[in-house]
Amino acid sequence: MVTATGEPWHYLDTAATAQKPQAVIDAMARALGEDYATVHRGVYSRSAEMTLGYEAARRRVADFVGAKGENEIVLVRGATEAINLVAQSWGGANLGEGDRIVLSTLEHHSNIVPWQMLAERTGAEIDVCPLTEDHRIDLGALEAMLGPRTKLVALAHVSNVLGSVLDARAAADLAHSVGAKLLLDGCQAAPRMALDMTALDCDFYAFSGHKLYGPTGIGVLWAREELLEAMPPWQGGGAMIDKVDFGGTTYAPPPQRFEAGTPMITEVIALHAAIDYVDAVGPERLFAHETALAKQLRGALRSLNSVTLFGPEDSAGIVSFAMKGVHPHDLGTILDEEDVAIRAGHHCAQPLMEHLGVPATARASFGLYSDESDIEALMRGIERTQRIFG
Ligand code: PMP
Repeated sequence: MVTATGEPWHYLDTAATAQKPQAVIDAMARALGEDYATVHRGVYSRSAEMTLGYEAARRRVADFVGAKGENEIVLVRGATEAINLVAQSWGGANLGEGDRIVLSTLEHHSNIVPWQMLAERTGAEIDVCPLTEDHRIDLGALEAMLGPRTKLVALAHVSNVLGSVLDARAAADLAHSVGAKLLLDGCQAAPRMALDMTALDCDFYAFSGHKLYGPTGIGVLWAREELLEAMPPWQGGGAMIDKVDFGGTTYAPPPQRFEAGTPMITEVIALHAAIDYVDAVGPERLFAHETALAKQLRGALRSLNSVTLFGPEDSAGIVSFAMKGVHPHDLGTILDEEDVAIRAGHHCAQPLMEHLGVPATARASFGLYSDESDIEALMRGIERTQRIFG
């Protein structure tokens, strides 16, 4: 990859956010410029056209995730908002004192904190599913901890730190065996894997547009239509109502019931372009490309005595590691001098850092534009860091 001014740049932080293809930038610029108007309200033609574009994007998302229909797609600001929506609306209506929510050790804070807030509000309790030796969610342990009070299992489809891929169908079958629902945090899976909600058989699926080569400020909640139908609204305002009266207000059917206010119009249009772009490359090809790069990087890092590798061998394009005697932030700073951008920190997964016994890790993550030259540059930087730290 090169910067806008043509210098080489080795971007290895796609798990944080993806760089945007020109097609997405152009779609966003058009939506903000010559096509711009509000949606769902205007009687003039440009607004009507924007509304068509907005709803076409919803259909495109539905098709991309293998939904039964566009009514299962709620457009939100990001994965964080999607999970908070489920916690507040579905969780508030369905969980009570003594009910249990199962999470795992490797969850991102956005798939922990909303459930803690819900637990505080309702008296529900949280169980934490441990990891296997090779840092996958331990489905054997999950099975053992499920019980009649388990109402929800919420797990990352792909770990943002370790790249571990969950056997999501097996997790769904386990959750359903005790009558619980399964929410999948698909933030890292949506940009890397082909999605099919019917095959996964989960109940809720959340992801962010900006990791899927789209803009920030747009995300998706997929949920089974019958669940959305039964869920109360979570934010009130314009666009989510049927009729407003001081004597009592009635609400629109889903998904509009969950989309209060003027929506993220330009972001939705750009997300459509991003999905077209990713689909043209092919999610299966993307997955193969990134797992091959991750395997190659793991092989190169394993040859260095000073490096500890985390995560499973078949990680999905994300590699976390620690260098003996070098704080990940120092490594990141030295690598930056070599035009290599990695992430250093707790990656919003502090319980996982605790489990790994480190305050932070260095993380290299790949995207569709990554190639072997990025790995070579990273390894050159790591060798230089070793020389500096003796
Ligand atoms: N879950 C996972 C696994 C993630 O990687 C992230 C983003 N780092 C999130 C949730 C939260 O996504 P966002 O900040 O876009 O809402």
